Amino acid sequence: MAPLRIVVWNEFVHERQNPAVAAVYPEGIHAAIAAGLRDLLPAAAVETATLEEPEHGLGAARLAGTEVLIWWGHRAHAAVADAVVERVQRRVLEGMGLIVLHSGHYAKIFQRLLGTTCSLTWREAGERERLWVCNPGHPIARGIDRCFELPHEEMYGEPFAVPPPEEQVFISWFEGGEVFRSGCCWRRGNGKIFYFRPGHETYPTYFDPNVRRVIANAVEWAQPQGQWRDECPNVRNPREKIGTPA
Ligand code: ZN
Repeated sequence: MAPLRIVVWNEFVHERQNPAVAAVYPEGIHAAIAAGLRDLLPAAAVETATLEEPEHGLGAARLAGTEVLIWWGHRAHAAVADAVVERVQRRVLEGMGLIVLHSGHYAKIFQRLLGTTCSLTWREAGERERLWVCNPGHPIARGIDRCFELPHEEMYGEPFAVPPPEEQVFISWFEGGEVFRSGCCWRRGNGKIFYFRPGHETYPTYFDPNVRRVIANAVEWAQPQGQWRDECPNVRNPREKIGTPA
C-alpha cells in the first residue's frame, strides 16, 4: 500500500525571532510535530513546509500529492498568499484532510473554509489545561483516557466563533475556569477538517505523548476517502431516452 502523504506546515516565525521559543523548539514547531508523526505512523511519508519557501512550500504539484495537511500559524497569517489559500481550499474540497492547530484558528484557510470569524477569548498565564474526551468512540480519541492534562498552556475560551462542529471530540477546562471546544470536526466538500486547540509556542506541547497521539489519530481520520474534482461536466448524452418535452 502506498504510504499516507502528510505535510506539516508551519509559518516558522516565532522560533527565529524569540529565543524562548527557539529553546523549546530549536528545529521549529513543524519538526517536533513531524517527529511525533514519524514515530506513531512509521509507514507514512511525512514532510514539512514553511512560509518562506517558494509558494510557502505548497506548490500545485506538491499539494496534489498531499493527502493530509497540518497547519500551524500565528504571527504571519496575513503573509500567506491568497493564491495558496485558494489552492489549499480546492484540495480540501477535493478530499485532502486538513488539521488546524492552536492559533491557526485565525488562519486565512480556516476562516475561508468555515466562513466565520473563528474568534475566541484568550489569556497567557501558563495555566493548567485539562482536555476531556467527550466522544470516547471517536477514532481521534483512540488510546486517550477519559482526560489528559497539560501543565502549562495558553488559555482559549468560549465563545469560539465557528459553525457548530459536526463532531465534538474534546472539551478543554482551564485552571482559571474557562472552557473551550478544543477538538472539533467538520467536512467541507469531500474533505475532513479537524481543529485541535493546544500548542502555544512557548510550551513543549508538541512533545506531549497524548497530544502526539491525538494528532496522529486525526491524520488517520482525515485521510481522503476518494477524490471529487470540480469539473462540472455537461452530460449531453443522457443514459435513458428523454421523451418529448411538454
Ligand atoms: Zn498561542
